Amino acid sequence: KLDGVERLARRLGADLRETCVNAVDGASFTVARGEVVGLVGESGCGKSTLGRMVAGLLPVSDGTIRFEGVDVTDTKSAQAREKRLRIQMIFQDPMSSLNPRMKVQDIIGEAAVHHGLTSRADMPAYVAGLMEKVGLDPAYAQRYPHQFSGGQRQRIGIARALAVQPEFLICDESIAALDVSIQAQVINLFQDLRRDLDLTYLFISHDLGVVEHIADRVVVMYLGRIVEAAPTEALFDAPRHPYTQALLDQVPRLGAGRQEFRTVKGEIPSPLNPPPGCHFHPRCPMAGPRCRREVPRTLTDGAHVTACHLHDGGTE
Ligand code: SF4
Ligand code: MG
Repeated sequence: KLDGVERLARRLGADLRETCVNAVDGASFTVARGEVVGLVGESGCGKSTLGRMVAGLLPVSDGTIRFEGVDVTDTKSAQAREKRLRIQMIFQDPMSSLNPRMKVQDIIGEAAVHHGLTSRADMPAYVAGLMEKVGLDPAYAQRYPHQFSGGQRQRIGIARALAVQPEFLICDESIAALDVSIQAQVINLFQDLRRDLDLTYLFISHDLGVVEHIADRVVVMYLGRIVEAAPTEALFDAPRHPYTQALLDQVPRLGAGRQEFRTVKGEIPSPLNPPPGCHFHPRCPMAGPRCRREVPRTLTDGAHVTACHLHDGGTE
């Protein structure tokens, strides 16, 4: 019997494998225990694909994802399967990921029973504890998803993820669909859970104001490649990559709320047919001849990672 995540993986894998072949290309980064890493970029840059790969919901055609030293892309190893359970994903739209015909108690508790973390008999108490943890009244355990508000449904999704006792949460636009006031509450919940449960996060968002608030470190992606990564303050105060600079120029700082992310000038090219050299060159105001023929190297300067010829000998 497949659990929900595996079913979803099959569906996503079947539907998206074709288009995701080159969606993420040589993106290498590390998340330390207890850290919140923000992953930002325009839609279509590969950040959701990368998140789903880390969560084991999409196949990795070439490369590895290591969690506590174990290659979690190994589909045959029992140890990898156990580790994959420690990585859980919180989606953008809880409604589409919650079965409308299931009671909240079963939605939250089913996987925990399936994986032997609680018994069928003890499940109601197990679920009540989780509901309290995410700020839901356990008295509502017998209700259905449509009887809750958007913010409450997102809390149900979070409780379901926590039910299998994860260590690493991947939040993919997890607050984007919520009202601003509710966004703040859910962010506070993420921060409380981080402290109480010693959680680590990969926080995928197009909202740089939110990422600045919650992340310790930020990774910027463009067309499947990481173009810059740095501690949050360094990245926001002194961005080095022209793409990051353009993103920050166009987005109002703190308090941006759910204001839509305005794209950098020009269209984002198709990930299936990216421009040669530096993928960003058709939109980059600093581009030179070298940018059109040579892929920039990823250089590390202390904690700051940049992939741009400007920081590696020039664009001529
Ligand atoms: Fe712009 Fe060239 Fe740097 Fe790419 S490598 S971001 S095109 S300056
Ligand atoms: Mg996305």
